Amino acid sequence: MKKDVISIVVPCYNEEESIPLFYQEMIKIVEKMKKQVTFELIFVNDGSKDKTLEELRKLASTDKNVHYVSFSRNFGKEAAMLAGLEASTGDYVTTMDVDLQDPPYLLEEMYRLVTEEGYDCVATKSTSRNGYSFFRKFCTKWYYRIIGAISKTEMVAGARDYRLMTRQMVDAILSMKEYNRYSKGLFSFVGFDTKWIEFENQERVAGTTKWSFWKLFSYALDGITAFSTVPLVLAAIIGVLFCFIAFIMIIVIILKTLIWGDPVNGWPSLACIIFLVGGVQLFCTGIIGQYLSKTYLETKKRPVYIVKETEQSKRK
Ligand code: UDP
Ligand code: MG
Repeated sequence: MKKDVISIVVPCYNEEESIPLFYQEMIKIVEKMKKQVTFELIFVNDGSKDKTLEELRKLASTDKNVHYVSFSRNFGKEAAMLAGLEASTGDYVTTMDVDLQDPPYLLEEMYRLVTEEGYDCVATKSTSRNGYSFFRKFCTKWYYRIIGAISKTEMVAGARDYRLMTRQMVDAILSMKEYNRYSKGLFSFVGFDTKWIEFENQERVAGTTKWSFWKLFSYALDGITAFSTVPLVLAAIIGVLFCFIAFIMIIVIILKTLIWGDPVNGWPSLACIIFLVGGVQLFCTGIIGQYLSKTYLETKKRPVYIVKETEQSKRK
């Protein structure tokens, strides 16, 4: 009987220290599951500035199941995951981080769930958020509440990008050609039966996190603009509300003038109103600007990533 092939897609950005540790762990799983499956490891070097590419070249030269795609510069994790999914050939595909925060030992159980229980996808979420600051936990909690309320696509709090998918689901994801990619939303958008499993949050084995607060913040905004148009409706609602308030105020002022005459005062309140209305207008224009800028980038149809080297191009 032909064995199933599982492709493991691993985005790497400045991960020279993590790669050997990750590979050692993966080898254990490969050995353990070798009766049922063969593995294909696809590393994506996302324009690292350290020795990540050298590490990948080394691995690819010694292990024929290791492949790599190396970008011409840093394009971001979303682009790296896309490149990996496009390069994958397996019957099942997993995306996971190289820092071992996504424990490889779970693969056995994930594979069992898709093959024996008929799920199309097994996704993971981490239970505790230990190691993150109170502020980050607070922001994350509220972000998921807000996006849950304004988006039809379900976003699961604490969800990681670590998941095992069938080829059919991967093809569905790859059929979405958008430039602004927000994987958490894309995975959920395509549907299919997904089983969620949980694991305790892990510490990074080596190196440091690549996500600063601002990078996360702008990624969160990307998620909102990519999967909800409610902010645009919000701008319209605020507009209507302000017109209504203005209308009431006009009537009040006319009546006041007719009854008590017109003593000219109230300059400070007027200044406040101008600032408030001006602020709200700019805020709404900003929202529209966000969507416009995303549309602008979509229409340019620039490639999501540019490949400089793969293990095949290197061999030639
Ligand atoms: N990563 C990437 N490109 C980037 C940033 C990160 O390919 O621009 C990779 C990184 O090498 C790691 C994964 O994405 O394998 C998750 O990044 P990280 O561990 O820094 O994020 P955290 O787990 O702290 O959220
Ligand atoms: Mg990590």
